[in-house]
Amino acid sequence: MKNIILIAPPAAGKGTLATQLKEKYHIPHISTGDILRDVAGRDDEIGMYVQETMSKGALVKDEIIYQLLEERIKEKDCQNGYILDGFPRNLEQAKRYDEILEAVGQSLGFVIILDVDKEVLKKRVTGRRICKDCGAIYNINIENNMPKKDSTCDVCSGALYQRSDDNLEAFEHRYQAYLDMTEPLIDYYGEKGVVRHVDGGVSKEATLKAVEEIILEKK
Ligand code: AMP
Repeated sequence: MKNIILIAPPAAGKGTLATQLKEKYHIPHISTGDILRDVAGRDDEIGMYVQETMSKGALVKDEIIYQLLEERIKEKDCQNGYILDGFPRNLEQAKRYDEILEAVGQSLGFVIILDVDKEVLKKRVTGRRICKDCGAIYNINIENNMPKKDSTCDVCSGALYQRSDDNLEAFEHRYQAYLDMTEPLIDYYGEKGVVRHVDGGVSKEATLKAVEEIILEKK
């Protein structure tokens, strides 16, 4: 199976897709954010530096990311493909990733971009509600995803809340940051012929199917 770099705007369903792929194909979902959150919990110099940097929302130093990523993709569970999420974040990281792949004998695979119309994303973001007790996620703007009773979880009857960054102002900011980050990456990978656009505005089953057709492609 081909490796994937997964790129998607906020609320496009990246987490859902990664989970579906992970469960169906038993390939690891490598999120550099998750790796760094682990490192941030360490009681050493690097742990403290990573924690401080992440809390400011800044990017962690490249050399730290490269080392962690290289170690991770060398692991046995990555040998039949993996999903990379949160990396590369810029052109420099993309170029260095090529070198890392060569050093560890892995291939680039495909860069999958989940496309979702901006108005649809806004609807998803403003309608998202989460159960404070069991974490179940609903959407009051989407017909088949609404809770049966307003503000109450169908599963455990817990109260539903809205994340503080699930508002239009924060969304605009995150969306613009996404466009700024991805444009150079799409150009870089576009020239290599590995970019594949997938419609993330349809059902999660249909999105998964479209991704499967790409990663199982025999080349
Ligand atoms: P994420 O979970 O992808 O939103 O990442 C959370 C935080 O981890 C970011 O705000 C950065 O501080 C750090 N981080 C994640 N991926 C990278 C990366 N590729 N390069 C530098 N810092 C990163």
